[in-house]
Amino acid sequence: MRIAEEFDDWAERGKDRGMEQRHWHTAKHALSRMPVEAGETVLDLGTGSGYILRALRDTANIGRGYGLDGSPKMLENARSYTDDEQVGFVRGDFDELPFATDSIDHVFSMEAFFYAADPQQTLTEIARVLRPGGTFYCGVNFFEESVHTHKWQDKVDIEMILWNRQEYRDAFREAGLFVAEQEMIPDTETEIPPESEFPTEDWESREVMYERFREHGTLLTVGVAPD
Ligand code: SAH
Repeated sequence: MRIAEEFDDWAERGKDRGMEQRHWHTAKHALSRMPVEAGETVLDLGTGSGYILRALRDTANIGRGYGLDGSPKMLENARSYTDDEQVGFVRGDFDELPFATDSIDHVFSMEAFFYAADPQQTLTEIARVLRPGGTFYCGVNFFEESVHTHKWQDKVDIEMILWNRQEYRDAFREAGLFVAEQEMIPDTETEIPPESEFPTEDWESREVMYERFREHGTLLTVGVAPD
């Protein structure tokens, strides 16, 4: 399984925690908008370190939380960060979700959806497992309009889906989900050094870095499952 090979290596190098820290800047804003109620069941797709479920248990009093990931080492790390019995980590692939039809209240996913081998099939699976009125909160930093992120593909040995805003909306609808909301959430926390420090190792100019974080940030698309 290609996903396991790539991401086991990331987990072993501690990149799960690094991603948690960086992604939290915008993921927390997406998460706070999810209409989750006490006792509900939430599935986090491509859970990485599992921080989304820990946060939901701490702040929203959710019932059961499932973190699905294709990387055994990511799951091992995620399990070691919590002893909450209501949170479970499950190995699986986005293309075939190991959950019953109508069994999940909300699906969340941060910076993971575009790794799906067949994204339309993944959306169909999400629509299947969601109960009527359930929501899918999908956050991605890698998308067409965010031009400075495109180079990430060169660093990852898995083909990543580079959709634009409209393509996300169309694909959600194709899978039978209503699109309730879509926006770019700025990352206001990543520190942007003064002009004089550019170019840096990662950024050719302050303008480019500003665009990436403060303007493009995270694309959030919200789908709602019909009755
Ligand atoms: N959501 C976390 C992790 C993002 S990294 C965060 O915000 O930090 C993407 C994660 O998705 C990795 O842990 C990877 O193993 C998982 N993943 C990628 N493609 C997958 C697939 N097709 N099936 C299951 N998990 C997948």
